[in-house]
Order: sequence, then C-alpha cells, then structure tokens
Amino acid sequence: GDHVDSGEWSNAQVLPYGPLSLDPAASVFHYGQEIFEGIKAYRQADGSITTFRPEENAARLNKSAQRLVLPELPEDLFTEAIRQLVSIDADWVPSGDGESLYLRPFMISTEAFLGIRPAHEVSFFVIASPAGNYFGTPKPVDIWLSTNYARAGVGGTGEAKCGGNYAASLAAQLEGEANGCKQVIFKDPNRDDAIEELGGMNVFFVFADGKIVTPELTGTILRGITRKSIIKLAQERGHTVEERRFTLEEWRQGVASGEITEIFACGTAAVITPVGKLKAADFEISSPSGEDGGAVTMALREELVGMQTGKVEDRFGWNVKLV
Ligand code: PMP
Repeated sequence: GDHVDSGEWSNAQVLPYGPLSLDPAASVFHYGQEIFEGIKAYRQADGSITTFRPEENAARLNKSAQRLVLPELPEDLFTEAIRQLVSIDADWVPSGDGESLYLRPFMISTEAFLGIRPAHEVSFFVIASPAGNYFGTPKPVDIWLSTNYARAGVGGTGEAKCGGNYAASLAAQLEGEANGCKQVIFKDPNRDDAIEELGGMNVFFVFADGKIVTPELTGTILRGITRKSIIKLAQERGHTVEERRFTLEEWRQGVASGEITEIFACGTAAVITPVGKLKAADFEISSPSGEDGGAVTMALREELVGMQTGKVEDRFGWNVKLV
C-alpha cells in the first residue's frame, strides 16, 4: 500500500514477486528512512494457518514509524496485509516440525528528493520466505562481545526496528565471525559494563535458584516479542524474572561461581538458542550451558514452539488464525 502526506493508506495490492521500480533519488536509498518487522506463519495440524501475536508486531512497527517519522499503519491493515499474502501463498507454508513461513513486512520512503527531511510518499510491503527447521536440540552458540562497535546510541534508533541499526552491526558481526563466533552481543550505550542484546536476539540468564534475568528495555534495545512471551511463560512456570541492568562482571562471577547455570538468546527466527562462551578481545567467559542447552532453556523452547505450532494449548490466545 502507498501513503502520501498525511492521507490514508491506499492502493493495496497483491503482486507476483519481482523487482520494484523506484526513482534513484527515492529518499530511502540515501537517508535510510525504513522500518521492518519479522513474523512467522505456522501450519496447524487441522491444516489452518496461524500467526503469533501480530498485534505486537503492528504496535512495534508503529513505534518504529514514530521514531523514523513514517506514517503509522493501523493494526487491522497490518494483519490484513499478512492474511492476504498468506492466503495466496498458503502452499508455501510448510508443515514440518518447527517449520514456518517467515514474513517480512517493511515500510520505505519512496519520494524522490535530495534535501534532508522526512518523505511525503511512503510504501508498505510484505514479502515471505519459507523458514527452516529450528526444532530439535540446538548446540550452544559462542558469542562475541563487540567493544569496537555499537549498534545503538543514546537517543538514537536502537529501539526502532530500522535498517540502519543492522547496517551499524555488520562490522561487529564480521569481527565476531573472524573470532569464531556466529553471534555478536552489544554493550548498553547508556551504561558502561552492562550488556544489551545480540545482533538479532534478546538474551536471558538462568540462575541455579530458578531466577531468570534479562536486560531491561532501556530505549536502545529492541522490544523482542519472543522476549515478552518468554517472560510470561517463565513466570507461569514459577521462575522469578528480573528485567534489569546486567553487567559483564555479574556474568563473569555468575558463571565462575556456578550461580548462572544456563544462558539463552531468543528471537522470532531461531525462537530460543542456547548461548555458550562469551569471547572478547581481552577475555573469555566459559559456557555454563551444557551441550544440550540446559533444562530450563529447552523446556521454555519446547513450550513456546509447542504453542506456536498447536502442540501445546494456546492459553493466552497468542495464535491468530489467518487462513
Ligand atoms: N533484538 C534485535 C536487534 C532483533 O533484530 C530481534 C529480532 N527481531 C530481536 C531482538 C528479537 O525480537 P523478536 O523476538 O520480536 O523477534
């Protein structure tokens, strides 16, 4: 759909996948006025297709829109766009364990001009791609502590899901890969020695006494929907969940003393992934998570994936039927 000035969204259409035609001066190419979401569609046992908490993605998209001075998209239009695409692409929604159709809604500024200002013409799109099997027992991933690069700054766009944050994280990602790590963790730009989030996931620490700690939402961290769901599921299972500042020192001491027994990261793509070692330029913290990921991590993972795919009762009405 298109949006011009302060008007309404219009011109919604479903088109065959293919290249877009945009003016080379379209401001998205130059100033990165762009936001996106990530959400999955799941095939249920009865053949129907559901998605998970789309109202949360719609709300986050609109928060991102406010920060990037883009127009908001009403929640019903967001969900309807997904519904129409999934209806047409229903055959592409896989039915294997843990498989899904990944949906990528995004909004870009399309107006052609070269001065620096918010665009008056904007388009919203949704594309889709089948996502692989993340189910089963994943091995813990080692993560690289980025100290040379930040993905977010105080007052910046860290809380928004916009392309610029990911562009800023690419150099850190490469540095991590050069040091044998598939994932990068960033420090909190607000507070020295506190950690924030991974390149595309939020992070949780499980303590021996059952307490679970995750960095609080500081304004520079993404409001992960998986994070929010896990907090709820963990509390239901009797865990105390603390959302607060979490420092490298606490990580180091917690692992050394055995107080921290498991670490995991979470996001829409991989759901829950056990975290292994933390590697940095001048130190390393060993992995508290066993090769199997740990009991709390795997129980939360199984419950969340089970809910999304209909194997566990959807007690909170998180699944929304699309088709
Ligand atoms: N942090 C960042 C930087 C991310 O890109 C993502 C993935 N969207 C997350 C956290 C996890 O968010 P969600 O659970 O909503 O996918």
